[in-house]
Amino acid sequence: MVTETLSGECVSPQFDYCTEIIKPRILLHSCCGPCSTAVVEYLALSYSVTVYFYNPNITDPYEYGRRLEGQKKFIDGYNRKINRIETIGFVEGKYEPECFYYEAIGLENEAEGGERCRRCFRMRLESTAAAAKLGGYDCFATTLSVSPHKNYGAIREIGCDVGARYAAGFVDQNFSRNGGYARSVELSKEYSLYRQNYCGCEFSKGAK
Ligand code: SF4
Repeated sequence: MVTETLSGECVSPQFDYCTEIIKPRILLHSCCGPCSTAVVEYLALSYSVTVYFYNPNITDPYEYGRRLEGQKKFIDGYNRKINRIETIGFVEGKYEPECFYYEAIGLENEAEGGERCRRCFRMRLESTAAAAKLGGYDCFATTLSVSPHKNYGAIREIGCDVGARYAAGFVDQNFSRNGGYARSVELSKEYSLYRQNYCGCEFSKGAK
């Protein structure tokens, strides 16, 4: 695991001294309940996790509501199951699809994985970095990398960049590795979560 420090330097954090007492607080950007499952389970071993649901890219309000409910359902179920004091927190960011549409101007016909997606990642990670800084979190991360369909290199580059600009440490990890994606599928079934069949924006509907 690599963390971006306040100075922009990437380091491997050592938390041995505090894991039993106080864990670092991480604000975890989540794109949806299913993708958050395995990431929450993994990060909760080392961090005190708060999920930040900020996804103005989900341009259909009904779909946004379904994914939001799925997110809450997972956190509620997980918190009941672990039955301990250190539960997973939740914050919903502002739902502002107009901001996504502004970022996507001129990129409506881009293939998935192109420049529109880079801007979409940046919009969401920038909001997360700012919220982490304002909220006094030690660092932030995103569930985006749990999907093997997403460009991990772009997520890494953007996360490190916004982390340095907001002086908020970015926990850079490819969560799809080491069985992370498979675990997210498994946990989604276990928690009976709704799994969408497209990325989120109207331009990705029906995309192969
Ligand atoms: S396809 Fe997904 S990542 Fe790309 S712009 Fe649309 S919602 Fe964002």
